[in-house]
Amino acid sequence: MQIISKIKTMQEKADSLRLENKRIGFVPTMGALHQGHLSLIKAAREENDILIVSIFVNPIQFSPNEDYKMYPRTMEEDEKLCRQMDVDIIFHPETTEMYPEQLLTTVNVSEITSGLCGSFRPVHFQGVTTVVTKLFNAVKPHVAYFGQKDYQQAIVIKKMTQDLNFDIKIQILPTVREEADRGLALSSRNAFLNPEERAQAGILFQTLQIAKKMLDDGERDGNRLACWMKENIKNAPLALIEYAEVCDTKTLKPLPQIEMSVLLALSVRVGKTRLIDNMIWESEVGADLCVCPNLCVCPNLCVCPAQHVYSDKQEQDRCGS
Ligand code: AMP
Repeated sequence: MQIISKIKTMQEKADSLRLENKRIGFVPTMGALHQGHLSLIKAAREENDILIVSIFVNPIQFSPNEDYKMYPRTMEEDEKLCRQMDVDIIFHPETTEMYPEQLLTTVNVSEITSGLCGSFRPVHFQGVTTVVTKLFNAVKPHVAYFGQKDYQQAIVIKKMTQDLNFDIKIQILPTVREEADRGLALSSRNAFLNPEERAQAGILFQTLQIAKKMLDDGERDGNRLACWMKENIKNAPLALIEYAEVCDTKTLKPLPQIEMSVLLALSVRVGKTRLIDNMIWESEVGADLCVCPNLCVCPNLCVCPAQHVYSDKQEQDRCGS
């Protein structure tokens, strides 16, 4: 396993791998690796000749009042895990390598970045799309892997690659959860939770599961469901809601009347730690009409919560694209 810290070296390496016709799979991370990251790494390992993982805590996606300085950094342990997962290259640049001087150029995706996390983290998505563009230009991957846990981020990156014609396939993989702690979605920030907070953080997944059951049982009023989610989260006294929304899976706008599919999205502070989670629900009828595999590359940004896997050809036929 090679560790590369310079952009130029990474680009030269990527060029030579591409000349050898190697397919490059890429997993961008901020480190403090856990099983959620490892699920992306495992899939990327299986599907590509070369596997590159980046570890970079990106300052420009944090507001000044956020946890950039405190964000867990566990490089030694991360390196060990990457070796175990048969990673070929870790791209681990210094902040000064990524941002040697003031940036005058940023990448912005509009509309789908304004709600949900965007309402609470004003610079966040601009920071994410800018750094992901820079990482794509350094690593030059054929495929990049993202987690559904950060659903809005994944949709934003998919839209960015589509709008700006990046020749990179974006794969979105399901959320990995703690077996203990009532299905709490794995996150590097879970390390900040004390035992009591950790126990109460299970309220996120519990709320999503019950909301999904309510949809299965016929609930179609998005506002009522969102209110119910907010009320239910109040059962955990340490939980402070940022948002609990019932949204369209593509536009991410609130959805008053639910039809075929819906995104249930939560952001909750438990103690000082901000946790997000989400679930996609699709009606039985919708499932039959389901057009896209694992939140696939379809330009319509179709969503298939069932994570059906189709070949690219089937996908194109179904999407009509
Ligand atoms: P981060 O290091 O938090 O920037 O995350 C790097 C990638 O791992 C992102 O694509 C995340 O969506 C993904 N990820 C984080 N947590 C999970 C999880 N619990 N399950 C699946 N993917 C995850």
